[in-house]
Amino acid sequence: MYICSPAARWFVDQFELLDITASHKLTLGIRTWIEPAAKALLRQPIYQLSMAEQEEIGFDVALTLSNAQQLLAEHRLQIAVTPPHVHYGYGAVQCAHYGSEHKRSPCAEAWDRIWWTRVGRGLLHPTNPITFDKAETFIRSIESTGVSTQCVTAGLDVIAAKFDLHEQVMNRVLQKLYEGTSMSPFNQVSD
Ligand SMILES: [Zn+2]
Repeated sequence: MYICSPAARWFVDQFELLDITASHKLTLGIRTWIEPAAKALLRQPIYQLSMAEQEEIGFDVALTLSNAQQLLAEHRLQIAVTPPHVHYGYGAVQCAHYGSEHKRSPCAEAWDRIWWTRVGRGLLHPTNPITFDKAETFIRSIESTGVSTQCVTAGLDVIAAKFDLHEQVMNRVLQKLYEGTSMSPFNQVSD
């Protein structure tokens, strides 16, 4: 079934005006709706979805979302409670405390304390946690009294790779959802 692009655009625009639940949007086969709908559903524990919502998205999608959510929750917990070790505990080369004693230095002690009191708690906040995409900026904005600038930078280099996992998991989830969704003829919207 072919639907010309302007008609498809009109249809999608009209549907945008309706108050459609995220679970319903996920099933309508409009590619551009899948990512925001999936992210909306992931804002709450998947097990808290109503029975109707779970039936609407189906077992496979619910399992995909639930697995991703669990993996990211465990990953977040691990990052929150483990201050990134800078150069295997030696600190940044330019740090005044660089060397085997760095892990017992005021620099490392301040880093560990700040990590838990500011970053760790922020990542684990029950209602308004720091999101991974904002975490790096947040960490850079922290007044890291006692930690050398070089160690903060080196620590961020270590943690940046860990924050990437969130994007990787989301990409895998979206790929799976795209592959498992029968696209609607109204999906033929070209920009
Ligand atoms: Zn240091």
